[in-house]
Amino acid sequence: RATLGVMGGGQLGRMFVHAAQRLGYFTAVLDPDAQSPAGLVSHHHIQTAYDDPAGLAQLADLCQAITTEFENVPAEALQTLAHTRPVAPGAAVVGIAQDRMAEKAHFAACADVSGVTCAPYAVLETPAQLQAIQENRADLLPGILKTARMGYDGKGQVRVRTAAELAARWAELGGTACVLEKLLPLTAECSVLVARGCDRQVASFAPQRNVHVGGILAVTHAHEGNMPPALATRAREAAVAIAEHLGYVGVLCVEFFVVDDGSEYGRLVVNEMAPRPHNSGHYTLDACDVSQFDLQVRAMAGLPLPQPRQHSPAIMLNLLGEVWFDANGQMQEPDWHTVLSLPGTHLHLYGKMHARAGRKMGHLTITGPDVVSVKRVARRAAELLGLPGLDAI
Ligand code: ATP
Ligand code: MG
Ligand code: MG
Repeated sequence: RATLGVMGGGQLGRMFVHAAQRLGYFTAVLDPDAQSPAGLVSHHHIQTAYDDPAGLAQLADLCQAITTEFENVPAEALQTLAHTRPVAPGAAVVGIAQDRMAEKAHFAACADVSGVTCAPYAVLETPAQLQAIQENRADLLPGILKTARMGYDGKGQVRVRTAAELAARWAELGGTACVLEKLLPLTAECSVLVARGCDRQVASFAPQRNVHVGGILAVTHAHEGNMPPALATRAREAAVAIAEHLGYVGVLCVEFFVVDDGSEYGRLVVNEMAPRPHNSGHYTLDACDVSQFDLQVRAMAGLPLPQPRQHSPAIMLNLLGEVWFDANGQMQEPDWHTVLSLPGTHLHLYGKMHARAGRKMGHLTITGPDVVSVKRVARRAAELLGLPGLDAI
């Protein structure tokens, strides 16, 4: 059988490996960490740096096609692999998603077809730009200063209220390339997963509503009534338009804000995109006939991309490292026995050796016959585990 490769060995890579193996493929994971969650379950684990020429050559040798699970894999490495093997998504689109400046420029370039714009923002790379923003862009304050590259889970971003604070926070970020974004009055957040094949077939999931706590995804609602249907339709169409405009091949996740603009449902604003399956799409493993990882495998292997069908309402609860510590800061395995005695609970643990605050250790998806019972069980599970975002369930 053929072998499929993935750059990056985190939990997304692990779930990709599981999906590929189910279809009978062998897998190869390139990740420098000997204990990486995906490396531990893969047939081949190439343990080198992402840009190591020998590692990349070995991956290309082994694999029929290659994907990525980590958006900060150097785009040049994907370019190198693409000389000899199909790579999906490609280096150019991953390069856009890696850089908030390029990403926002893309959103602006396709606003006419997607029907959505991003938050008002300014690029901040030079002292002259800082001065120009301080003098002319009071409309962006209060705002959020985000590093253009490498940020995730709210890392690399700070809120700023005044022009003086902007200068101080930018200096603290080392004067690195940033965007300053206006702080918007969010009423909700959602995301859409789109899969697109090299033959331009497109499949997408209905939007899921996401609740973040401290900049990290805490709860995902994937069920009827999670958001107004008119907004859901618009978000889904916008995400597909964004993927098509990129000529994207693979699974793409587009994050949206719902902004209070005084209208009945609010206005949809595009936030950012991830060139891979996404934490907010993990519910598809247990609640849909085809998961986001199945679609990732199919897209890269040139297999058909049927429209997925969600068969159960679902809520996903993220399990961060905090869950592994008791009130006295002592490490302790959570009480899975009680959690798993609740109906419709699907526990996913990523096989990470060490729990740390904020570290994604696993997730729990709750499915059931109807939204009311799914919410009841999700609330009970969140209570048992001491999870945040309870009031949002
Ligand atoms: P991810 O882990 O999703 O990649 P990230 O670190 O790239 O996160 P963003 O998605 O840009 O960060 O922002 C994280 C969260 O901060 C958002 O989901 C939202 O809750 C809040 N946020 C970001 N930008 C804004 C804004 N302009 N106005 C209001 N809230 C915002
Ligand atoms: Mg991000
Ligand atoms: Mg985000």
